[in-house]
Amino acid sequence: MNSKLKSIAFALKARDIELFTDSEQPNCFLIYRPVCSDCNTYFHTSLLECFFCGEINYYLLTCDACGDLSSITGNKKRKCNACNAPNGSKKYRCKNPDCFSNGNFSNTLNQITDFKGVFERTSQWNLSCVHCVNCGSAKHEYKGFRVFLYDEKNFDNSKYQTYKNENCEKGDLIILKLDKNNQIEYDYEIIDNETNRQVNFDKIGKKDLEKIVEEILNLPTIFN
Ligand SMILES: [Zn+2]
Ligand SMILES: [Zn+2]
Ligand SMILES: [Zn+2]
Repeated sequence: MNSKLKSIAFALKARDIELFTDSEQPNCFLIYRPVCSDCNTYFHTSLLECFFCGEINYYLLTCDACGDLSSITGNKKRKCNACNAPNGSKKYRCKNPDCFSNGNFSNTLNQITDFKGVFERTSQWNLSCVHCVNCGSAKHEYKGFRVFLYDEKNFDNSKYQTYKNENCEKGDLIILKLDKNNQIEYDYEIIDNETNRQVNFDKIGKKDLEKIVEEILNLPTIFN
């Protein structure tokens, strides 16, 4: 595998995606993503869910005084901006209003252990997501596809089409990379034999490469 392809592989590896290389196919690698066996949605094994009701973690803080929701990032002091309730009034609560952890039980917990909500980092009351976020199924399996990198200095669409026809087949993913005046631009295409996507390199820089990874992981039924 060449070093450029390797850097793409690292970007995916950083997301805990299973990744394999095949010495007989040096111009691509294989990735596997967990999908729900029932509805084929990406199975978010890295998410957390509430121990009591199975609701997933949205990484939000809830104000105990007024119910205001805010992101956990940049809100370390947990003071409420909406109602001015003092520090500590914001909790890492389960979003489900009917959840056991939001009833009297939380008051009991609070008295004993300074309960800050089921999704607090050190809380014992959350676990890795074991249900599909789309349909609730507990069954999942791994589906794989090949990843190619198309990285030519000057992008020429007819050359690209030739490359595709010679190297790729249905279900393959091609990440396109273009070095334009010291700015890296990206795009991607999934081969489905029916539509030829217009390549427009609308993703720029490392951040957008991560966006691509995110999009790929959440794509619906194309990998059947
Ligand atoms: Zn819950
Ligand atoms: Zn508040
Ligand atoms: Zn499902």
